Amino acid sequence: MKKLFIDLEKCYKCKKCTAKCNYYYHPDNNGYVRLLALAAQEHVCRRCDNAPCVASCPWEALEKREDGMLDRHSMRCTSCKSCTVSCPFGVIYPEIVEYKTTMCDYCFDRSDNNVPPICVTTCKENALEWTEVKEDPSKEIYAVRGGKYFVYTVKWKKDK
Ligand code: SF4
Ligand code: SF4
Ligand code: SF4
Repeated sequence: MKKLFIDLEKCYKCKKCTAKCNYYYHPDNNGYVRLLALAAQEHVCRRCDNAPCVASCPWEALEKREDGMLDRHSMRCTSCKSCTVSCPFGVIYPEIVEYKTTMCDYCFDRSDNNVPPICVTTCKENALEWTEVKEDPSKEIYAVRGGKYFVYTVKWKKDK
């Protein structure tokens, strides 16, 4: 079964994103930003015990979950970017703490019919694919949100 696959390393290097998202009910929505944020939270964030990003947020919009994952409550976030500056590892990219909330529904109206999502068809850097993909840590390929989509990234791993 084909899934959305994002090469995050390619994506982070591209400074002029052309991937489009046309979520039907919200034409200004850019679900692709949401996909980047979730992938960064799951695989790149170091999950600091005393997270400086959480402490830096003036609006209590960031929260560490019990599993160490970071959640951003987008309805509280004003996109001030304090967290971006405070993260010692630079993994809260300014573009993923957007003021307006956007969502991704994985283009289910297309993907359920085996048609690639809009973002895949509009990314000019080929950082996005619609392909058969499985989690394979030996190739740095990881599932996000339990396999809703997959990413290639250099995952942060805690020293034993
Ligand atoms: S899969 Fe569809 S809804 Fe999600 S970011 Fe891509 S274009 Fe937007
Ligand atoms: S950008 Fe949002 S989450 Fe980050 S510190 Fe500012 S209000 Fe908090
Ligand atoms: S400061 Fe950076 S690395 Fe640490 S928990 Fe926050 S986002 Fe993750």
